[in-house]
Amino acid sequence: AKSGGKGRHRRYDTSLDDAAATDAQLGADLRRALGAGEFTLVYQPVVRLPEGAPVGAEALVRWRHPSRGTVPPDLFIGAAERTGLIVPLGEWILYEACRQAASWRDDDGAAGPWKVSVNMSARQLRETDIAHTVDEALRRSGLTADRLMIEVTETAVFDNETAVDALEKISKRGVSVALDDFGTGHSSLGLLRATPVDVLKVDKSFVDGILGNEEESIIATAMLHLAEGLKLGTIAEGVESATQAARLHTLGYRFAQGYHFARPLPGGEIGVRLRGGVPE
Ligand code: C2E
Ligand code: CA
Ligand code: CA
Ligand code: CA
Repeated sequence: AKSGGKGRHRRYDTSLDDAAATDAQLGADLRRALGAGEFTLVYQPVVRLPEGAPVGAEALVRWRHPSRGTVPPDLFIGAAERTGLIVPLGEWILYEACRQAASWRDDDGAAGPWKVSVNMSARQLRETDIAHTVDEALRRSGLTADRLMIEVTETAVFDNETAVDALEKISKRGVSVALDDFGTGHSSLGLLRATPVDVLKVDKSFVDGILGNEEESIIATAMLHLAEGLKLGTIAEGVESATQAARLHTLGYRFAQGYHFARPLPGGEIGVRLRGGVPE
């Protein structure tokens, strides 16, 4: 159609990872961007309830595009995954997060046992030797294994022997494993038994419902009890209000993440907070 070109162009601008036709174009742009150093990491604090003291931080990638400004990951992670670019990009993210986190280290040991969390995509887990990459990242950065947490989704691990084996190895090194967006993917209780998971990150969609809706509260409570029974930690995601934070605490949640506590911050700033340098 005559409007096809125009429509495609508009789609590329608004929803970068939409059509397959734009994937090749976007993939090339991502490859260029990686070489040009346009990616950067920000870190969202994970905090203890109810007071909000930071106990860790999740690394979240941003693309500082020369003409489009800062592009959020929802607009390019999908395309990076489909084009395979997620493999070198994901490796860069892991190295960079470990490198930055190593500089947050507190020499006098006064800081608590904080961790830096890094998201790992399905394709990275399926197609690369992620245990080796993690070893390399720790070795090069000097970060100790107990400071690192890897976040994977249920869907990425479900029915994926390679991923489970790799997580097993990583876990034996002392690196923690979190199941991200818990409750939204291929949830299977069998998966929890078969995978070396340490923490469930309860998805924002459940946190959103805890105030108004009785059923959502029941689910959020059941997830907590499940985690406790299996001796897993929990982090409630996407906490946006003081009321939600208080309710989560009442339900028994001890850790949370969300705009109510902090937006993602530059690495330098999070380092200072984790060392307790800046009282909030
Ligand atoms: P995610 O792993 O579930 O990360 C949490 C997302 O929720 C982040 O969005 C964060 O900024 C946002 N968020 C945190 N608190 C709140 C809140 O209170 N309210 C709302 N509405 N949102 C909140 P972000 O940074 O845009 O990342 C979106 C997704 O992109 C991530 O979801 C993750 O799936 C993916 N992603 C981000 N960084 C990476 C990465 O380095 N590697 C990979 N493989 N995926 C990444
Ligand atoms: Ca995550
Ligand atoms: Ca999540
Ligand atoms: Ca999410």
